[in-house]
Parts: sequence; structure tokens; C-alpha cells
Amino acid sequence: MTVLEILPIGCVEDEWLRYLRDRLAEFFGEVVVSPPVEVPLRFNSRGQVLADHLLDTLASRPTAAERVLAVIDRDITVAGVDYIFGLAALGGRWAVISPFRLRDARHGREWERELFLERLLKEALHELGHTLGMVHCENSECNMKFSSTVDEIDRKSLLFCESCLGTVFSSGAEKVYATNGRGSRSFLRALLGRLRLTQKPGAEQRDKGD
Ligand SMILES: [Zn+2]
Ligand SMILES: [Zn+2]
Repeated sequence: MTVLEILPIGCVEDEWLRYLRDRLAEFFGEVVVSPPVEVPLRFNSRGQVLADHLLDTLASRPTAAERVLAVIDRDITVAGVDYIFGLAALGGRWAVISPFRLRDARHGREWERELFLERLLKEALHELGHTLGMVHCENSECNMKFSSTVDEIDRKSLLFCESCLGTVFSSGAEKVYATNGRGSRSFLRALLGRLRLTQKPGAEQRDKGD
């Protein structure tokens, strides 16, 4: 069974999709990139794509994958905020991320490709974390820390803290995922084994280095 499907919505750079596939496969095992699809989008008055509407639309699409990460290269948002980097239903199967605002250069610096790709991966893992029932975290290193700017994304880690990983096995979430069969349990094991944020000195550097 496919653990994770990456689904491009419209035109998304192949290189970014391949990067996500290869890096996410390190954590989740089998990851497939599906051919791009076109779906009806809904826009707000500023011309931004409404991400909650998109997730609702996608949810009716059949998939054999445990989780689906949609990628759309457009400015996305939900009502009441200026923009978002991604969205997922808590404990759901679907998540969406947008590279659109992750391209921003750091203050006074040139655009950096490696930094952009790292942000993309962090956002993917963050939204997938929500699909596992993880909520926002106050630990400044933890990937589940809420980010409203790219600087905030740059400051946090790729990985999840012990407390966030613990919530995946808290009473409610465990029941939900236990009913999803073997695929879900292996998904959880993969997460717990490889996405643990350690406090060891140097761990942060190693994560960035490969
Ligand atoms: Zn979040
Ligand atoms: Zn955390």
C-alpha cells in the first residue's frame, strides 16, 4: 500500500516534486508522485485560492494512499488571514502546501534554492503532522510550531518534539488510526522512528547537512 501520494494541482516544477518525493521517502517509505490534475478552484476577492475549498474538493477524489499531499503553486489562504503556506484537516487524510510564498529571500539576501527546498519539506511535514492529529506547539525548534513568515519557518526544525509525537498516540488519535489498518500503524512507526527531534548538540546541523 502506498503510504504517501504527492498530488500536483496544475503546474508545479518537476524538480520540487522529485525533491519532496525523495526526502519524504526517507521518512515514510513508499511515496509516489501522481500526474498533475486540474480541479475547480475558488478564489477570494484578492485572487487567492481558498485552500479549505480545495481540500474539500480533493477529499471526494478516490486514493489508495494512506495520506495525500497536494501541492499547488499559487497563493493560498483561508477566510480571515492574509495568506497561508499550507492547510490540512486535523486527523484527516488530505493536506495541501503551496511553494508560492516560500520563495521569499531572506532579508537583504539573494534567493536561495536550498533554503527554499528545505522550507518546502518543512511545510510538507508540518501539514502531514496535522493529518496525524498534531496541533501547534510552543517548542521553538519543533516543526509543529506555527509559522506565519518564512523567517519563522527557517528558525524551526524539520522534526517533531517528543510531546507532539506523544499526541499521535494519545487516546483519541490512537483509536482513529488503529481502525485504519496496518498501513496506518506502519505510518506511525515510521514517524516515531525517524522524525524525533533530539536535543543532542549537533543534531540540528546533521539534519540540515544531508
Ligand atoms: Zn499548522
Ligand atoms: Zn512539538
